Amino acid sequence: MGILIIMPEKKNEFEQQIFNTTHQPLRCLDLRTIQINLGLLCNQTCEHCHVDASPKRTEQMSWTTMQTILAVTEKLSPVFIDITGGAPELHPHLEKFLRSLIKQHQQVQLRTNLTILLEPKFKAYPKLYKELGVELVASLPCYLEEEVRLQRGKGVFEKSIEALQLLNKVGYGTTPKLPLTLVFNPLEPVLPPEQKALENDYRTYLAEHYNIQFTKLITLTNMPLGRFLDVLKEKKPHYMGLLKESFNPETLPSLMCRHQINIGWDGTLYDCDFNLAAGLPVTTMVLRHITQFDPSVLSTRKIATADHCYGCTAGHGSSCGGALV
Ligand code: SF4
Ligand code: SF4
Repeated sequence: MGILIIMPEKKNEFEQQIFNTTHQPLRCLDLRTIQINLGLLCNQTCEHCHVDASPKRTEQMSWTTMQTILAVTEKLSPVFIDITGGAPELHPHLEKFLRSLIKQHQQVQLRTNLTILLEPKFKAYPKLYKELGVELVASLPCYLEEEVRLQRGKGVFEKSIEALQLLNKVGYGTTPKLPLTLVFNPLEPVLPPEQKALENDYRTYLAEHYNIQFTKLITLTNMPLGRFLDVLKEKKPHYMGLLKESFNPETLPSLMCRHQINIGWDGTLYDCDFNLAAGLPVTTMVLRHITQFDPSVLSTRKIATADHCYGCTAGHGSSCGGALV
C-alpha cells in the first residue's frame, strides 16, 4: 500500500508576511458587513478603476441572485449592507432591492459616482435614497478640477460638484441622518496623505468655492489591479516595492476582509471587492456561491490573499471604509 504524503501548503509572499507577524493565517473575525457588487456596467471609464467597469460592460446581477441575497440577509439581520458596482443606479432592480433591504431594517450604504445622478433617468435617486435612509459614499479624488479630469475624465469634476450641491439640497451631508462620505484616492502611484488633514483641506476648499458640505472624507490606496495596472506600466515594480516596504502590522485587525463578505454580480463569494477584481474567490472550496451561504463557515474562513493585499496594509492602511489606523 502506498503512503500518502501531504505537502505543506506553499504560502504566497503576503501570507508569509502575515504568518511571520502573527504566527497564524489571516482569518475572518465576523460578518459585520455584506458588500454587494451589482455589476460592472458604469457610465464612466475611470483610469484607476479596479474592477475595469465601463459603459461597454454588460455584467449585472440577476433578480434571482438578488432574491437569494435577500433570503440570506433576512436571516443575518441586522447587518450593514454596502452596495457597489459599476454604477449601482444602472441596475434595473436597484429600487426594488433597496426597498426590500430597508423593509428588513438593514443599514444600507451605496457607492455612487455622482455623475449618474445628473442623467435624466436617474434624477429621482437622491430623493429615493433620502426616503429610504440610504447612506451615500461618493468618489471625488480631489477638490481640484484638473486632478479629477485626469483620473475620471473630462467634465466629471463639474458634474460631480453639481451632484454634490444637489445632494446637499436634499439634506445629504448637511443633516446627521443623511451621511455623505467623500472618497479620495491618489492620482500618482503614491500612498494617500493623512486622512484627517486632507478632510480639513477638502472641507475648507469645497465650502469656500462651491458651498458644499459633506460628513467625512475617507482615503483609499490605489490597488495594483484592473485599469490602474495599465496606468502603472513600468512603474509597477516601484509601486509594489512602496506598498511592501510600507507594510504596517497595526492594520491587520481592521482589514475589511476580516469583517465582511463580498458578493459578486454572479453570486460568487469573495473576501473583498479587490479579490473580486482579481478573480480570487473565498477559500472555502465548496461554499463559493450565495446559494451555498453558510455564516458559521464563512465567518471564520481563511482569507484568500495575493500581492495586491499589500495595498491594504501599507502606511495608514486602506479599505472601502478608508484608512485603518
Ligand atoms: S471607478 Fe467607479 S465610477 Fe469609475 S469606472 Fe469604476 S465603477 Fe465607474
Ligand atoms: S485586498 Fe485587502 S481586504 Fe482584500 S483580501 Fe487582501 S488584505 Fe483583505
